[in-house]
Amino acid sequence: MLESLTDRMTSALRNLRGVGKLSEENMADALKEVRTALLSADVHFKVARQFVEDVKAAATGQEVLKSVTPGQQIIKIINDELTKLLGEGSTALKDKKPLRIMMVGLHGAGKTTTSAKLAKRMAKNGYLPALIACDVYRPAAIDQLETLGQREEIPVYTDRDSKDVPKIGRQGLEWAKAQGRDLIIFDTAGRLQIDENLVQEIVKLKKEIQPDEILLVADSALGQEAVNVAQHFHDAVQLTGIVLTKLDGDARGGAALSMKAITNVPIKFMGTGEKIEEFDVFHPDRMAQRILGMGDVVSLVEKAQESIDQDEAQRLAEKMKKADFDLEDFLSQMRQIKKLGSLGGIMKMLPGAHGLEIGDEHEDQLKHTEAMILSMTPYERRNPQIINGSRRKRIAAGSGMDVRDLNQLLKQFGQMRKMMKSMKGSKGRKQMERMAK
Ligand code: GDP
Repeated sequence: MLESLTDRMTSALRNLRGVGKLSEENMADALKEVRTALLSADVHFKVARQFVEDVKAAATGQEVLKSVTPGQQIIKIINDELTKLLGEGSTALKDKKPLRIMMVGLHGAGKTTTSAKLAKRMAKNGYLPALIACDVYRPAAIDQLETLGQREEIPVYTDRDSKDVPKIGRQGLEWAKAQGRDLIIFDTAGRLQIDENLVQEIVKLKKEIQPDEILLVADSALGQEAVNVAQHFHDAVQLTGIVLTKLDGDARGGAALSMKAITNVPIKFMGTGEKIEEFDVFHPDRMAQRILGMGDVVSLVEKAQESIDQDEAQRLAEKMKKADFDLEDFLSQMRQIKKLGSLGGIMKMLPGAHGLEIGDEHEDQLKHTEAMILSMTPYERRNPQIINGSRRKRIAAGSGMDVRDLNQLLKQFGQMRKMMKSMKGSKGRKQMERMAK
């Protein structure tokens, strides 16, 4: 699926080559693909629509960087916008002791596991945690919390004889305080779907225990209903944070964007496995790349922005247009490419180039070409036509190559120049446009 999205984006962006400024018109196809990408990552359709509008507003009128294609630039803008949106708000919990945290969410989302993970993590930060089992409908959930508590040496409060959740909460709180605990985590019951009784129970529990943080634990594989779930819980108890679980799975993670965009509640943590230590603060950049499935292109654009000399690239492009490109220019262009890393690495990052293999021999060829050009004098580089037999021998020897290799390089270069010349006219421009497609 990732491949085909990348390929679709590539073809949508093809028409964008050569534009100087991004506009609503020239971005339309690309943005349509982005919307499709978001929808197939399970982002809610309203959120996808709004997001695309925001990107359009951010991108319209931007000058296209000289060294990357407009398409690559759009992807970077989208990625940055997505990261910004996902990362708004702090991942920090309130800095106070005692700290009371209520965990809410659907059944199976990972509340119990996450309660223990959070307790363990906070214990490392100097807190003395306690866990309170408020899921009275599933005896197995109480067992699970107890087992986790025992294993991690975290005290757990349970009351298997009562179904009065607010009372269990209050007694648990007193019990924890009496033991000198300063981080009290309440694991509540979930349902398969949002259920009014359950919501009322959580509202009552909240009133009773006055939590400082209310975290919605949500499975990252939650599809379009993520919006409803988050909205419902937020309306009922005013969430202070979201914990995304099961990011180790293959969910594309659109639920994160939907929940964040609709509730504006910060995503604070993420669960990345069943083990207790597989838990971390939320990383918006990783999430954005997961949703878009375009991570490699993003890093390519970043690299290009850092390492390519914009003016030099522009100068070379001008020279190519005028067909007075010489071997000095050729050398300069090769060095720019080298700054981006190995050829094979660059090809792998480009959408649509998956099938292309760049072997070591191509890398070697680049090195040999560079060596030969370097052993020419600057005058020879600018005027390759003067390179006669004796000069050829000297240059070849100086670079450790055969005269045959040098002959081939000069022949190829001559052909390239001829081609540039023939493209100067309007017929040539059309030919060039065809080649760019
Ligand atoms: P609850 O019903 O919300 O309390 O959910 P549980 O804590 O019982 O978790 C349900 C299942 O999801 C269990 O099998 C957990 O081991 C699993 N789980 C929870 N968090 C993660 C996670 O981040 N990654 C993976 N792979 N599994 C998780």
